[in-house]
Amino acid sequence: MQGSSVSKALVTPGEELGVEEEYLPGDNAYVDSGYVKSMVLGIAEWDRVNHVVNVKPLKLSLIRPGQIVYGKVYYFPNDKVAMVRIFAVQHQDGVRRIQAETGILYVTYASEERLSTIYDAVGLGDLIKARVLSSKPPYHISLRGPLLGVVETRCPQCRAVIVPSTSSKITCPVCGFVFRRKVAAS
Ligand SMILES: [Zn+2]
Repeated sequence: MQGSSVSKALVTPGEELGVEEEYLPGDNAYVDSGYVKSMVLGIAEWDRVNHVVNVKPLKLSLIRPGQIVYGKVYYFPNDKVAMVRIFAVQHQDGVRRIQAETGILYVTYASEERLSTIYDAVGLGDLIKARVLSSKPPYHISLRGPLLGVVETRCPQCRAVIVPSTSSKITCPVCGFVFRRKVAAS
């Protein structure tokens, strides 16, 4: 019996995968000073028959259920749902940027109060602080809780940028327009 002709291992960017005489650099691999190295974090596959080493990039998601994340509202499929681009995760040592992921906010989770429309909680372009509910993208998120909600918004009338206080009723300081948001207490 012959063993498998391909072996695999987790490798980091810049890690040596073999010598140039033994392996050709395949996908996501390169030659540096006689060594074949990985360009990415991923799973390296050494093909001993064809003498090629390929690396399949590993996409590590840093988002976990229960985490607090920051995102921007970019789309409303209907008046009960907001789509959010999640771009940062809060850790104990601060807020870290991540590769953007899609979040989805249903009106039921947009506030502790019962809202008839998502527009009473968030607006287009709003910066929000939310809790992650699910473990796979699109990540379901919640604004329930006093510390969660809109961090920065824009007046729907004059587009002035507003950092709201804790009240859910916001009065635009520029044009006086009154509108509602689920606001995060700071
Ligand atoms: Zn205004």
